[in-house]
Amino acid sequence: MLKKIIYFHIILFLSFSFVNAEIKADYKIVRLYNINHQDILKLTKEGIDIDNVWDKNAIIYIQYDKLHILEDMNLSYTVLKRPDLRSKAGYHTYEQIGETLNAIAIAHPNICKLYNIGKSYEGRDLWFIKISDNVDIEEDEPEVKYISTMHGDEPVGTELCLNFIKYLTDNYGTDQRVTGLVDEMEIWVMPLMNPDGYVHERRYNMEGIDLNRGFPDRVVDNVNTTEGRAVEIQHIMNWAFAHSSVLSANFHTGATVVNYPYDSDFDYTKNYSATPDEDLMVTIALSYASLNKSMRESYYFPSGITNGVEWYTAYGGMQDWNYVWLGCNEMTIELHDIKTPSFSKIPELWDENREAMLTYISWALRGIRGLVTDAETGNPVKAVVRLSGIDHDMYTDPDVGDYHRITLPGIYSLSISADGYINKVVNNISVGENNATRIDVKLTPQYLVNIRTAIVILKIMSNMQINESTKGLDITNDGKLGISDFLYFMNLISLK
Ligand code: ZN
Repeated sequence: MLKKIIYFHIILFLSFSFVNAEIKADYKIVRLYNINHQDILKLTKEGIDIDNVWDKNAIIYIQYDKLHILEDMNLSYTVLKRPDLRSKAGYHTYEQIGETLNAIAIAHPNICKLYNIGKSYEGRDLWFIKISDNVDIEEDEPEVKYISTMHGDEPVGTELCLNFIKYLTDNYGTDQRVTGLVDEMEIWVMPLMNPDGYVHERRYNMEGIDLNRGFPDRVVDNVNTTEGRAVEIQHIMNWAFAHSSVLSANFHTGATVVNYPYDSDFDYTKNYSATPDEDLMVTIALSYASLNKSMRESYYFPSGITNGVEWYTAYGGMQDWNYVWLGCNEMTIELHDIKTPSFSKIPELWDENREAMLTYISWALRGIRGLVTDAETGNPVKAVVRLSGIDHDMYTDPDVGDYHRITLPGIYSLSISADGYINKVVNNISVGENNATRIDVKLTPQYLVNIRTAIVILKIMSNMQINESTKGLDITNDGKLGISDFLYFMNLISLK
């Protein structure tokens, strides 16, 4: 009997976990016809993942148990065949990606350092390679990052990132431009953010979470903590909190376009959601797309670029999170219409994107840069950097004190503020096309100002006689003005 009960429990447990796994795993890829902006928004609010929208068509990823929503909305659709598992032949396997990165790091120890920033849900490594001169030290250099394949069924960017890493490391020291980029910045590349999805050839991580819908979002999820998020997202967030990247991109397939923030807006009816850095965003997006023939000649996207909301609203995307909370300009780059093209297509795609990928990161060297230090100690300061007229915060890297405010050519005022320091504004900064204008700033600690103020007040008070007009200053009411009144006064106004 006992045996039977145990057996029964095992069966129950197995079937329960199977059902559970099936719910997470079983989704359909569906093409919708004749849809409009409102339909897309409604689906987004139902938690259905929009993958692509063009003309009146869309590709969505939908959990099996949500298919009825399409019926309820009277939408016409077809369920698409899942890509053939053999279609990935030729692409690096997960194991080969790790081996390749390790081999590159070992071959180029002076400019490469390989980090494993954590494990995926199923225990696979999240590799992040840093490429820079003096790779072991953080320098006064902008940090940039490329992250690919947060959707496991979009492997092209993984290959292009591997090619990009090889290109930088192979040409360092011989190619002037590559050498300059590696010397002047800290380049981080993560070829594979969703290794479980990659191995299982599915969009989601193995908790069933779309990693490009699970970040904090200024509209629907305005809490910048890792709590309750997919483990892969937590690793990315924790890494980002400890670094200060100023420019980045994440790579996808399923379309061919550069998508710039915002991906969501407080106003549901909007068809476009511009950041305060709109002109800069558009210019950077264009600089990538104009170097990529398929984007440049795109039929659906004028000049190969689109604003996020203009394309379709997505909540919890990585790019908006980067911009809003890290002050980092991030874009979502869709490399090819077919999610997993034949591997023989990769050399052509690399040719099409190599120049664009190099040009894109070089934006981090433009604008205004400098060091923010404590005027007394010379130590780096964690400060907020703002351009006047642009409602957007950027931050110094607290380890070094460097900031890199990318901006278009023009004349700017820069304001720098930090807790415990007197704000500083630098006017008439001229920014050109190429190298960033350097503005180093020494911030005066508030306590120093307070001490100086206190000394002045003390001197004034000690010279004063008590009369009708000054008797209010005799706070201790002992008939004279002195140090006790002064201290009481200081305490009242909370000067420290
Ligand atoms: Zn994607």
